[in-house]
Order: sequence, then C-alpha cells, then structure tokens
Amino acid sequence: MNVLIWNEFRHEKRANSKPKEIYPDGIHTVIAGFLEKNGMEVRTVTLDDFEHGCSVENLEWADVLIWWGHMAHGEVQNEIVERIHKYILRGLGLVALHSAHFAKIFIKTLGTGCTLSWREAGEKERLWNVNPSHPISQGLGSYIELQNTEMYGEPFDIPEPDELVFISWFEGGEVFRSGACWRRGRGKIFYFRPGHETYPIYYDLNVQKVISNGVHWAKSFKSDSDASCPNIPESIETIGVDK
Ligand code: ZN
Repeated sequence: MNVLIWNEFRHEKRANSKPKEIYPDGIHTVIAGFLEKNGMEVRTVTLDDFEHGCSVENLEWADVLIWWGHMAHGEVQNEIVERIHKYILRGLGLVALHSAHFAKIFIKTLGTGCTLSWREAGEKERLWNVNPSHPISQGLGSYIELQNTEMYGEPFDIPEPDELVFISWFEGGEVFRSGACWRRGRGKIFYFRPGHETYPIYYDLNVQKVISNGVHWAKSFKSDSDASCPNIPESIETIGVDK
C-alpha cells in the first residue's frame, strides 16, 4: 500500500501558533507516523514543493492520495489539479480530510460547491457509525466522541454519497455527513470531516483507525492509461472469437 500524504503545511509554520504547538513537524508527519505503524509505505509532500509534490512519478507510485488543505487552496496550480484528477479517474484513491472540502481537487472531482456552515467553539462532536458493516467503520464502536472540535453543519453541498459511513452531532445541535464515499471513474473517494488545525484531532486513536481504514478502502485497481472511446467497426459476432 503506497500512500502519498499531501499537506498544505502553512498553519504549522507560523511562529507561536496553536497549530505549530500541536503539530510542530506538520499534520502530514503525524499522519505518516500512524500509517507507517500500520505497515503502509508513505511519502509526504507539501504545497511549497516543486509541482506541490504531485509529480507524475509520485502519482504513478501512489495507490491513495491523502489531502489536507485550508488557507491556500487557491495557490494549488490548476495544471496540477488536472493531473491529479486524471489519476483519480484511472484509479488513484483520494482521502480528503476536514477543510479539504474546499480543495480544488475535491470540488473538481465531485462537481458541486462543497459549501457547509462552521463554527470554531471547541464543541463536543459525536460521530455516529451509521454503516457498521462498511470496511471504513470496522474496529469502531457505535460512535466516536471528540471533546473539542470545530463544528461543520449541513447543508453540505455534495453529491448524494454512494455510501455514508458517519453522521456527526455537535453540542450546538447541528448535524453533518462526516464520512462519505463516492466513485469517480476507477477512483474511490472518501471524505472524513475531523481535523481542524488548532485541535489535536490526528492523535486520536479512533480518528487514526478511520483514516487507516479509509486508505485501505480507497485503494482501487489503477489503469496505466486514461480511459478512451475506441471505435469498434466490427463486432466479435461478425469476425468470430479467436479460438
Ligand atoms: Zn478547520
């Protein structure tokens, strides 16, 4: 299992900031740590890397791409978004975390506005496991509780999920589709909500479990070329099947 972990890596570079205190080496390093412990091969890349780290070589290598971005979605070059999108259609898995709901690659892949409501007030979140037989919810109980989170509320402007895994309830009363799956081309996409940069969400063992499960689920069978529309002038029925 080859996992390319993409992090914007801007919040955590700000001196004396909460994100830097919680994730001194970046969110990507923490995610890489627990995925490696689970036996996965990982590469970490960031926005400021050449081609944002999304070289053809890295995209060829990866089975699944994890994406975390927030304050600099607009700085991701459209040409690189197009490249990643082609790879998703060829079978690269995408695990989009938290504020990646507004990442160019997520919006392009799903085709809707991906808007939502939000509030940063350290509220309790309870993620209900609404799909207990789904591969992504294995090893978890009937819910996950996070004591301090940023609230995301409905309506979440996404296409109807092919499979819904978690629905969140927040202390303030809102609800949200926190774990949702889609397929686009040969690619599988999993969105998972938790992960605001000022809370230590990615150290939570249940969150780590969901992300690991999500990576396993999102691995597909990649094609080595883009899909095509071949002209078939003669049918098998006409020319006969090779014996
Ligand atoms: Zn956030």
